[in-house]
Amino acid sequence: QNARAEGTGLALFDPGEYAQWRANRDLIADLQHAIGTDELDMHYQPIVELETGRIVAAEALLRWTRADGTPISPARFIPLAEQSGDITVLGEWVLGRVCTDLAGLWNEHRLPVTVNVSAHQLRGTGFAGRLLDLLADTHLPGEALIVEITETVLLTTVTDAATTVSQLQQLREHGIRIAIDDFGTGYSSLAYLRELPVDILKMDGSFTSRQLEDGSPREIAFVRTIVELGRSLELCTLAEAVETEAQAQRLRDLGCHLAQGYHFARPAPVARLHETLTAQRSRAAGPAT
Ligand code: C2E
Ligand code: MG
Ligand code: MG
Ligand code: MG
Repeated sequence: QNARAEGTGLALFDPGEYAQWRANRDLIADLQHAIGTDELDMHYQPIVELETGRIVAAEALLRWTRADGTPISPARFIPLAEQSGDITVLGEWVLGRVCTDLAGLWNEHRLPVTVNVSAHQLRGTGFAGRLLDLLADTHLPGEALIVEITETVLLTTVTDAATTVSQLQQLREHGIRIAIDDFGTGYSSLAYLRELPVDILKMDGSFTSRQLEDGSPREIAFVRTIVELGRSLELCTLAEAVETEAQAQRLRDLGCHLAQGYHFARPAPVARLHETLTAQRSRAAGPAT
């Protein structure tokens, strides 16, 4: 097939593109095999309240490490899984795993977890029902879960939008909160915020810039506007990719509620989060007598 394509000499054939296409196809095939094996794992990154530094939630982030130890970034394989349709099966695996981990986090620490859900997953009508069943099976209340909608492609048809909105409403009726991820970039636009029932506005990491830290009036204006928008709509605002205390301070001054980033903690296995939360609880309880 390859040889035949290479022999045609068609002007439209681009060897570089073809190599990329093959690499992507192979990666997807490997990912299909990785689902259900210990190559896939969930890590958790604490989300803190900027005013107090207290951990109030954690984001579940998918990790894929090949058998030979090579990590593959979700930024690479999630978009491919969305294109191929494998995101549905992958997303179901993620939700199952998150609910299992969440049972311990919620029962011991009352910590909610926020999980990334691709807009593709919400196009199928069964999503909300399956998620609610899963919560019921693990005896978790809706308050324990936040659904973070990540968008890499536009909601194309009116039907898509209607299905998505009604499923999100169904989740909210059960106490599940909805966050809009990467707000301010790509398709996570104002129109999107207007269409969907949302509780948390998650500002894209690019707004937490070095220039913001340095006090650039322009960068401050963007963050202030997003925080102000959140306030007007009575949404909780969350900043991601916070890497320094100077950035945290700016965000605090601008009235942003929550933050996550390497400055506070890196994503890590669930056991690490348990340790951190236990330490936080004993600090809050004060020195032992
Ligand atoms: P996201 O949801 O916006 O996640 C935030 C990303 O920022 C994560 O990258 C996280 O590791 C990274 N990050 C955290 N703190 C910092 C920081 O201080 N500085 C910088 N530069 N980055 C920081 P990660 O884990 O590589 O995930 C990339 C994207 O892949 C996610 O972006 C999300 O869109 C997608 N993704 C990850 N897990 C899942 C999943 O289970 N399901 C779906 N559908 N998508 C997922
Ligand atoms: Mg996210
Ligand atoms: Mg994000
Ligand atoms: Mg992001």
